[in-house]
Amino acid sequence: MSCIFCKIIDGDIPSYKIYEDQDMIAFLDISQTTKGHTLVVPKKHTRNIYEMDEVLASTIFKKIPMIANAIKKAFNPIGLNIINNNELPLQSVDHFHIHLIPRYHDDTFDIQFQSHQNHYDNSSYLEVLNKIIHHLS
Ligand code: AMP
Ligand code: ZN
Repeated sequence: MSCIFCKIIDGDIPSYKIYEDQDMIAFLDISQTTKGHTLVVPKKHTRNIYEMDEVLASTIFKKIPMIANAIKKAFNPIGLNIINNNELPLQSVDHFHIHLIPRYHDDTFDIQFQSHQNHYDNSSYLEVLNKIIHHLS
């Protein structure tokens, strides 16, 4: 198995482990984009959000408040971003993971939601939502 996160889970390579249970592991992201940057990872090799079922998603996501609160208490950040990249070129490690990125006044991390609201009218919003609804299962 060449997956680096599977190797961490199996203990074949070291990590700065914060928390572990039978289904998931949380460890410091080696990059420490901001102080306390943590990854939450399922033990089952699952490539991305499209491969997750409801049970696995619940199992992983339900632990995030506990870990987020520990980071908050540890470093008193001004806020926290939760980010998950799916598929190349966004995702560099092909094993699902959720980034918890605490934010500080002086950090250099940047995330911006640009508004394209002025390009949309009622019919174009409805067209978008109907396309998504059509594929819900
Ligand atoms: P992404 O680009 O969303 O796939 O993020 C992958 C993350 O994994 C990056 O932020 C890396 O810094 C992190 N990473 C890669 N290898 C390791 C490792 N051995 N231990 C901890 N974090 C890692
Ligand atoms: Zn893996």
